Amino acid sequence: MDDQQEHVLRTISDRGIRYVRLWFTDIVGTLKSVAVAPVELDNAFAEGVGFDGSAIQGLTRVYESDMIARPDASTFAVLRGVDGSDDAAFMFCDILTREGEPARSDPRAILQRTLRRCEDLGFTAYAHPEVEFYLFQPGASDDEEPTPIDSASYFDYVTRSVAHNFRRDVILSLEDVGISVEFSHHEIGPGQQEVDLRYADCLTMADSIMAARVIIKEVALRHGVEASFMPKPLAHWPGSAMHTHFSLFEGETNAFHDPRGQFGMSVTARRFLAGLMRHAREITAVTNQHVNSYKRLWGGGEAPPYVCWGPRNQSALVRVPEYKPTKPQSARLEYRALDTAANPYLAFAAVLGAGLAGIEGKYDLSDPADTDVLLLTDMERSVLGIESLPGSLDSALKLMESSDLVAEILGEDAFDYFLRDKRAEWAEYRAQVTPLERARFRADR
Ligand code: GLU
Ligand code: MG
Ligand code: MG
Repeated sequence: MDDQQEHVLRTISDRGIRYVRLWFTDIVGTLKSVAVAPVELDNAFAEGVGFDGSAIQGLTRVYESDMIARPDASTFAVLRGVDGSDDAAFMFCDILTREGEPARSDPRAILQRTLRRCEDLGFTAYAHPEVEFYLFQPGASDDEEPTPIDSASYFDYVTRSVAHNFRRDVILSLEDVGISVEFSHHEIGPGQQEVDLRYADCLTMADSIMAARVIIKEVALRHGVEASFMPKPLAHWPGSAMHTHFSLFEGETNAFHDPRGQFGMSVTARRFLAGLMRHAREITAVTNQHVNSYKRLWGGGEAPPYVCWGPRNQSALVRVPEYKPTKPQSARLEYRALDTAANPYLAFAAVLGAGLAGIEGKYDLSDPADTDVLLLTDMERSVLGIESLPGSLDSALKLMESSDLVAEILGEDAFDYFLRDKRAEWAEYRAQVTPLERARFRADR
C-alpha cells in the first residue's frame, strides 16, 4: 500500500466515514457509482472491485463483461454531510480488464493515453473550464420550457436571490473536496450561472468536472431548485457552454508563451492552435455530443459556429486571451465550442489530440479573424476561408466517422461505441414529429 492509500484509510477512520463511493464514467460521461464499506478498501486498492461491465453503456464487449474498478487514491475526497446526513467519501477509478489491462473504452484511460502523448513530447497539459448552467424551478414537464429561478442577467447582483446563497454553497462544497473556484457569477440568461474552476492538470480537471456536476446538482436540490447542464434549454436565451482554457507546460515554463510572438504566442501555441483549426470539425461530435448541443452552437448567444480564432473576438471558436507580459504563466488558448454536457475525459482528449497533431505535424496557422464572423455573409466567410462547425449531430457524426484522428484518440472500441450510441440518439430524434411541424403543416398541407 502506498502513502496516498494509507492517507485514505487513516482519514476514513479519523472521520468515522462509513462508506466510500467509487466513481467512474461511461462513454457518454454519465457518472457511475458503487459504494463500498471502508473494510473493503484494502482489497479495492490491491485488486479492484469487480462488476459487470456489459451493463454499462459502451464500456465493454459482451465477451469481456467482467471488469474491475480500481480506485485512484490521489482523487480521494470527502463530501461533508449536511442536515444530519453522514459524510461520504469518493474516489475516481480506473477500469481494468480481468487481466489487469486498462479497459479500452474507459474514458479516463483514453484521456490518460493522450496525456502520455503530451508527456512524450515533453508537455504537461492544463485546463481551466468555465462551467455554465441554468437554475430552474423544479417540476416542469418535458412539454414546456422550464422556469428560470430569476430574471437577472450578466454579473447582476440580485438582492435576496436564491442564486447568491446557492453560489456560495457551491463554492464552499467544491472547496471542501479540494476543487478551487476562481470565480462565479450570474450569466446572461435568466437563472443562468457560471462557475470557473481554477486551472489544474487535465486529468485532475476532468475528474473535478465530474465531481462538480454532482455537487452543483446536490446543492441545487438543497436550495429547492434544479440545476441543468443541458446545452440549450431555453430557445430564446443563450445556451450553456464549457469554454475551456488549455495550456501546455514544459516543466515550470508555459510552452505557449513567447513575448516576441504574435499576441504573445510561441511557435508551439501557434501549431497547437493550427491543429485546433484544422481538426475542429471532426472532433465536434465529441465536444458537442447531443442533438441539443447544435441548437446552442447555432442558436446565437455568443456560441461559436465558425472555425476561426482571434485575440479578443467573442465570436471566434478559439480565443487567445489578452496577452499580459507580466504574467507569462497565464498564456493559454480558450476553446469555446465545448458544452457542459460533454464527457470531459473524451472532450479533453479530443481537443488535446487535435492540438498535438498540429505540433507534431508543424501545421501553419491561418490569420486571425478580426471582425465579428457572425455578421459576415456566407460568401464573405468563404472568401476568408472560414469553415462552419457541423450544423447537427448527424453532420458531426459523418465528419467523425471519416476521421483517422478521432479514431486514434478514442481507440477503435470507444470510437465504435460512441458512434453507435450517438447514431441511435440521432435516429430517435429524427423520428420525432414536433409541435412546430404540426402547427406549420397540419392544416395547410
Ligand atoms: N453562453 C455562451 C455560449 O453558449 C457563452 C457566454 C460567454 O462568453 O461566457 O457559448
Ligand atoms: Mg460565460
Ligand atoms: Mg469564455
